[in-house]
Amino acid sequence: MSQQKLTDLKNLDYKQLTAFLEGLGKERFRAGQIMRWIYQRGVTDFADMTDLSKTFRSELSVRAFISNLHTEAVEESKDGTKKFLFRLVDGQSVETVLIPMEGGRSTLCISTQAGCAMQCAFCLTGTFGLQRNLDVSEIVNQVCAVRREHDVDNIVMMGMGEPLHNLDNVITALEILFDDNGFGYGSRKVTLSTCGLVPEIRELGRRIKVGLAVSLNATTDAVRNELMPINRRYPLSELMAACREYPLHSRQRITFEYILISGVNDSLADAKRLVRLLHGIKGKVNLIAFNEHAGSTFKTPSEEAISAFQSYLLDRNIVAIRRASKGQDISAACGQLKGKSSAECGAMSNEKKP
Ligand code: SF4
Repeated sequence: MSQQKLTDLKNLDYKQLTAFLEGLGKERFRAGQIMRWIYQRGVTDFADMTDLSKTFRSELSVRAFISNLHTEAVEESKDGTKKFLFRLVDGQSVETVLIPMEGGRSTLCISTQAGCAMQCAFCLTGTFGLQRNLDVSEIVNQVCAVRREHDVDNIVMMGMGEPLHNLDNVITALEILFDDNGFGYGSRKVTLSTCGLVPEIRELGRRIKVGLAVSLNATTDAVRNELMPINRRYPLSELMAACREYPLHSRQRITFEYILISGVNDSLADAKRLVRLLHGIKGKVNLIAFNEHAGSTFKTPSEEAISAFQSYLLDRNIVAIRRASKGQDISAACGQLKGKSSAECGAMSNEKKP
């Protein structure tokens, strides 16, 4: 039987794996047993699952396989950020960034699509367009691959792609990240970042509990329409209403990412409008100075403008944290990845999650 017809067990969450095994006439508890082999011990060969009978192992091997990602390249920044390049079976590639945090902890920024359809003006991915969605296995395999060599304390879905544009696969991947038989992450250790797909934000909140970050970047529809075309479909009023209703744990807040761009969104009038937009939302703001690069005419704001913007928010009791973009020397910083991610990943990385 060719591998195409086999089921990749890394595409299945606990429930789906249970159903798959029941279809083979196996007991339900086998699903947890097999998931622990895969995610906690990193096994990719059924032969190594020594507490399963030989007959069961050989039955599995004619019906299923366990995929793996091989690291094609790793680059390390002088600030300790590491960027991994993974080649997928069809030749597409994805990048994953491991960012060191204070206290020796680390955040892994993972991708959910090859390319992205959203065309945000400050992001290189917009220029490549969407190649395709990643499978569940391709999402979780980024975590498996990095965890083979490193501890990963927090995960942010902020790499290439818009996670909510690949919602079903992303939710199944989250189930595996959270499952005690899978990676066992607490729901507050994982954050999904979106550019603002409003119906999908609501659906996400209904289907699973996960931290939310919103890439905001503007305080008027006119500016946001230019920076983030998704705003033409879901304007700020609808986006902020969905944020207001997003289910959060008692100590959890939505993170609003705000890339400050000189003369575009960095005025005190913007800061004032931002305060109004955040009214009634349990949120905090990550301020990231735009990282200039050859592909963009946008400019980094002056230090004075950044400080004034931050102070305006702080003075009105808004948690506003200035974030440095990490990994700039290895093109793992804002606008340098093929995906958007790293400024925002870096922005999340120093946070102590509640
Ligand atoms: S910022 Fe995010 S949503 Fe926007 S184009 Fe880049 S990857 Fe896509």
